[in-house]
Amino acid sequence: MPAPGSRPVPVDDPRRRIPRTDHLLAEPAVAAASRSLGDRVVRGIVRGVQDRARREEIPPEQVLDEVLAALGDRPAASLRPVLNATGVIVHTNLGRAPLSGAARTAIAEATGYTDVEFDLATGARSRRGAGARAALLAACPAAEDALIVNNGAAALVLATTALAGTGEVVISRGELIEIGAGFRLPDLIASTGAVLREVGTTNRTHLEDYTAALGPTTGCVLRIHTSNYRVIGFTSAVPIAQLAPATREAGIPLLADLGSGLLAPEPLLPDEPDATTALESGADLVIASGDKLLGGPQAGILLGRSPVIARLARHPLARALRADKLALAALEATLSGPTPPVLASLRIDPEALRERTSALAERIGGEIIPHDGRVGGGGGAEVPLSGWAIALPAELAPLLRTGTPAVVGTVRDGSCLLDLRCIPESEDDALAAAVHSAAARSAAAAEGGTARDH
Ligand SMILES: *Cc1c(COP(=O)(O)O)cnc(C)c1O
Repeated sequence: MPAPGSRPVPVDDPRRRIPRTDHLLAEPAVAAASRSLGDRVVRGIVRGVQDRARREEIPPEQVLDEVLAALGDRPAASLRPVLNATGVIVHTNLGRAPLSGAARTAIAEATGYTDVEFDLATGARSRRGAGARAALLAACPAAEDALIVNNGAAALVLATTALAGTGEVVISRGELIEIGAGFRLPDLIASTGAVLREVGTTNRTHLEDYTAALGPTTGCVLRIHTSNYRVIGFTSAVPIAQLAPATREAGIPLLADLGSGLLAPEPLLPDEPDATTALESGADLVIASGDKLLGGPQAGILLGRSPVIARLARHPLARALRADKLALAALEATLSGPTPPVLASLRIDPEALRERTSALAERIGGEIIPHDGRVGGGGGAEVPLSGWAIALPAELAPLLRTGTPAVVGTVRDGSCLLDLRCIPESEDDALAAAVHSAAARSAAAAEGGTARDH
């Protein structure tokens, strides 16, 4: 029955020649695609092409070819690769750390059955992710033990739940931070049932503020690195080295949430905390993300004293927050492999970047301007990383975003700025092609607009 309002299709209408769904699905190439992509996806593509033919956008004879072309281009998932031309190294909206080649290989090798929790020599069950744990301890010898969970937020929830329960988490008022998208760490901690015991003020907290708060109901003391902003001026915070003797004497664990994931000091980011220094200064436990400056997969990393890690590992919540085998594989490979892309982007030589940028500008046009890169929400708040960008007309920005590969730059003052800091040099040709294609589409649209105007 025709849909209400639509006219019946006349007998001689070309739309009657549109191939039927079952005929299209029976085509060998279409049937093969159903097996690899799934029946639902393929039926959706077939229906979409038939609809275009019904709207007379394509002739009925072209339906099969269009279906085959659509199936050929079809990625297995909807996430699209992006060339990050923002200069922001740890960009949460763009998936944070791009993985090293070693980590990508490790993931591919772990996708099938793998001995993630099994000892092949003895045939017995083994500790999950032993390789990743060993790599963490090798990279951070100041830690006695390590535990890996799903992400930094999960690590914080596990630590405060296991150490404080419904007791108090002592924390400075200067460290009650929101980390992004309205996500507040104090709310997260409170959601576990622990009670936040705020001490000090927004700009200044002293050792006595902490010691006065310690008592029988204290579960732990938490220092949080204010990773995405800086308090400057009349400020003071208590260094871990000063706090640790007091918490140790009181028998209360001292936690440091570092966020960024640096395991050792990074000379380019002197104000960024690192796990080795925090542990050597007396923290009992440090918390970090795997996909920020560490440059690995999404993971929550807990490093610290053995009895503390053991308490966390024993807690039932540890099972709910455990890391996936692919993340464990990628983390181990990141730690034991070559410098990951995040650190390469951070340490890039500005002069080499300028030469590369001007070589690309010669191919795609545009003006070179100084442009500071950023570490991103993952750390190094407000630290400018001096570099360069190519300024193109702003109207190219949406065309670049929707092209293949997608290119995301920064729109500022009427220009679309492309910063090469976070783009592997091997992608320069792809970037040039993407800009040429965007410019061609922009010119075609302008011509179309002019034609319509007349
Ligand atoms: C990023 C961050 C978190 C959260 O880590 P995720 O890995 O994003 O869950 C927690 N604390 C601090 C200080 C952070 O910077």
